Amino acid sequence: MSTSLFPDGSRQAITPLAAQLKLSIVVPVYNEVESIPRLIEAIASTLQLHHLNYEIICVDDGSTDGSGDLLRQIARDRTDLKAVLLRRNYGQTAAMAAGFNHAQGQVMITLDGDLQNDPADIPRLLEKLDEGYDLVSGWRMQRQDAALTRLLPSKIANWLIAKVTGVNIHDYGCSLKAYRSELVMDMNLYGELHRFLPALAFIEGARIAEIPVRHHARKFGKSKYGLGRTFRVVMDLFTIFFMKKFLTRPMHVFGLFGLLAMLLGVVVGVYLTFLKLTMGEDIGNRPLLILAVVLFLTGIQLLSFGLLAELSMRTYHESQNRPIYRVREVIGSESDS
Ligand code: UDP
Ligand code: MG
Repeated sequence: MSTSLFPDGSRQAITPLAAQLKLSIVVPVYNEVESIPRLIEAIASTLQLHHLNYEIICVDDGSTDGSGDLLRQIARDRTDLKAVLLRRNYGQTAAMAAGFNHAQGQVMITLDGDLQNDPADIPRLLEKLDEGYDLVSGWRMQRQDAALTRLLPSKIANWLIAKVTGVNIHDYGCSLKAYRSELVMDMNLYGELHRFLPALAFIEGARIAEIPVRHHARKFGKSKYGLGRTFRVVMDLFTIFFMKKFLTRPMHVFGLFGLLAMLLGVVVGVYLTFLKLTMGEDIGNRPLLILAVVLFLTGIQLLSFGLLAELSMRTYHESQNRPIYRVREVIGSESDS
């Protein structure tokens, strides 16, 4: 695929996009019955204003407030809305994944179903994407959420995530993002990893940008998350860190530490044996002996863990025909794209 979203080079207006490109707007919805009609209207009017070719995919994540029925009803009347109703509440990540799987566009836009993100920002995301990026993330510069329970943990989390992943964006938590579809298709989502999509994308070799977007206070319903999210984010961060570092070569890491531990254990053991044999010293009750044994055993465990990790990585890649590389473009007569 060519890098430009507007192959004819005209991007003063977003309009040329309409002819060539389909946008899929993916919205996870969990108990947002008051917001839904307004949100759909807002998305549709912005995109129609720019003559964009789009579809809205609303995924009802097992709502209990009638959001699902409302979506079913609206989807019957509108041609631009596809409603995907999940059987139960799976969480935002799963809802987004379901949306991606039912989307047909070449560009995916995600945003929240609670009207906190502003659909009017979508054209700007697209323009940025067209500069050659694979992912453009929104940055809620003036975020309208509670300071102590939301903004502070989020600031710390963002800093930490940026440090660990090496992707320097300010606002991982912002749902308003634009992606080239092939990128989304390369990523598998688990747990609550939607927050780490930029990091996962980065692992897949994506070019990532960030632009400031608007953010509104929640008018209807209430937030689905509290402080407990912080713990889950930290755990997910471990996973991401592991994926980024060791995905294709776990043995290099575990093997190194395993060998080091074993080596130290052997050195200490030899020293103790030397004391015992030549000096006739009693070594049975020395803490050093325990250290030698623990080091040696830890070493063996790390080594075998590394081997097992190697095996599961192979299964991970091969069971899904997942290449260990990603091609951005192939140019030349032999290429078929
Ligand atoms: N959401 C979902 N499933 C869930 C929790 C949330 O689909 O289990 C949706 C929710 O309807 C909203 C988005 O995910 O559209 C973000 O949730 P929320 O607004 O509560 O998060 P916050 O903006 O407070 O971080
Ligand atoms: Mg929200």
